[in-house]
Amino acid sequence: MIISVLSGKGGTGKTTVAVNLALSLAETERPILLDADVEEPNVALYLKPDVIVDEVLPVSVPVPEIDLAKCNYCGRCAEFCQFNALAVINGSVMTFPELCHGCGGCAIVCPNRAIREVPRRIGTVEKGSSGPLEFWQGRLNIGEPFAVPVTRLLKQGLSELEGETAVIIDAPPGTACTVVEAIRGSDYALLVTEPTPFGRHDLDLAIQLVRQMRIPHGVIINRAGSNNEIIVDLCNKRNVPILLVIPFSTRFAAMGAKGIPFSRVMPDWQKEFRRLYHAIKELCQCVN
Ligand code: SF4
Ligand code: SF4
Repeated sequence: MIISVLSGKGGTGKTTVAVNLALSLAETERPILLDADVEEPNVALYLKPDVIVDEVLPVSVPVPEIDLAKCNYCGRCAEFCQFNALAVINGSVMTFPELCHGCGGCAIVCPNRAIREVPRRIGTVEKGSSGPLEFWQGRLNIGEPFAVPVTRLLKQGLSELEGETAVIIDAPPGTACTVVEAIRGSDYALLVTEPTPFGRHDLDLAIQLVRQMRIPHGVIINRAGSNNEIIVDLCNKRNVPILLVIPFSTRFAAMGAKGIPFSRVMPDWQKEFRRLYHAIKELCQCVN
């Protein structure tokens, strides 16, 4: 079962939830925890003992290389490219590999077969473990604008998993294409929010996204307090269940600042996260 943890905005506690959920299941369910926030992976900061990396896979995208001996500067490749990754100016062809999305279209439309594709490395996928937890993370190289291929490779092995392995995905913040790629194929989406106007607004965007993708979903209110009604009201309107409420507490904040998942030192919260997991499992079985 694949559970994605996402939020319409950053800073709601999405990673905190993903890590605490995975650690609470570590001994019983042997889950795999994926850090799919590839532009800024930070799950490893919370994992103790340290992460042991067993495998590092390079992530590359194919970019065009021009054979000027065959090129007649017709300009069709530049006309075709929707990302302005090619320009034909004054008898020369310029390529801008950072803008290339690797679609391969320019090589297809070139009438003189003057374009071949060469790999350009943009990031890595690391697979390993932290104690009893299997842990995979994607990492986009600094300055690279195109994160989706890293997320795609990160998730590639999931379809080959056998049995009922639980997979927890820490998705990137927001609702852009990197989030779509991270949560695609999930059985359930946990939407983490906070009781603020921004939290409500961006939660609504996240609800619309998972509805479009037809992923069953529920809400976790983090940093809950006197203002919870702002989220409860939206969840009632959209008919979304609230599965867990985590209170606003300086103790949680202090542990977060030190990179300590709070369920590790508060066993009652391990029970809460296990209860959450089994509730989701039941909901998924009802849907199927
Ligand atoms: S389409 Fe081919 S021949 Fe035309 S400018 Fe581009 S590389 Fe050169
Ligand atoms: S591969 Fe696609 S995105 Fe890249 S330069 Fe060619 S047409 Fe543009």
